[in-house]
Amino acid sequence: MTDAFVITPPPTVVVPVKGGGSFPVRRIFCVGRNYAEHAREMGHDPEREPPFFFMKPADAVVTGGADVPYPPQTADLHHEVELVAAISKAGADIAVGEALSHVYGYGVGLDLTRRDLQQALRKAGRPWEMGKAFDRSAPIGDIAPVAMTGYPGAARIELRVNGETRQSASTADMTWSIPEIIAELSRFVALAPGDLIFTGTPAGVSALARGDRLEGSVEGVGAVAFRIA
Ligand code: MN
Repeated sequence: MTDAFVITPPPTVVVPVKGGGSFPVRRIFCVGRNYAEHAREMGHDPEREPPFFFMKPADAVVTGGADVPYPPQTADLHHEVELVAAISKAGADIAVGEALSHVYGYGVGLDLTRRDLQQALRKAGRPWEMGKAFDRSAPIGDIAPVAMTGYPGAARIELRVNGETRQSASTADMTWSIPEIIAELSRFVALAPGDLIFTGTPAGVSALARGDRLEGSVEGVGAVAFRIA
C-alpha cells in the first residue's frame, strides 16, 4: 500500500440542514464592508467599491450551538452577524442573472473577529488572517434549503447579546447583493459545491466577554445561538 494515508485524514466538516441531511463544507469566503453603516463605524468611506474577500478555514465552523471558548491573542473579540449562502453548483465567471441557481440554501453565521489583531495587522500592511481565520471563528446555525427560504434579499438580520439587540438591519441594506457577490467572487476563484459565503455584517459590532450569550437571526432563514465560554 504505497497510497495509504500516513496520518488520519481530517473529518469532513458539516453543517446540519433543516429538514434533514448535512451540508459538507469545502471553503469559507467572507465579504468585507458590505453594509454602508458598518463601513462608516469602522472608519471607511462607504462608497460602492467592488466587494473584497477573505477566507476562514472550513474547520472554523461551529455547529449545534456548542460553546465557543474566548480565543487567545485578543482582548477585543467582536461579533459580526451575517447571512450565509451555501453553494451547491460549481462555476467560474458566473453571470449575476445565473448566480442564485448556484445556491443550495442559506444560514445565519457569526464572523467572529479578533478586532485588535485585525486592526494592528491592517495598519502594518499585513494579511488579516490571524484576526479572522482562527479556530472556532465561524459559528453557524442550520442551513435552510432555498425551497424553504426563497431569496432572503430583504430580511431582518439581528444579533442579540444577553438578550440585548446589538445589530439590526435589513439584508436589503447590503452594498452588494448575493447574486452580485457570487458573480464577482467567481471571477477570482472557481466556486465549488460546499463553499460557504459570509455576506458581510451590518453596523453595531462590539466587544464580547466570557459568558456572553449570542443569538443571531435572519427572518425567514433561521438562527444561531451559542455562548462564549
Ligand atoms: Mn464579516
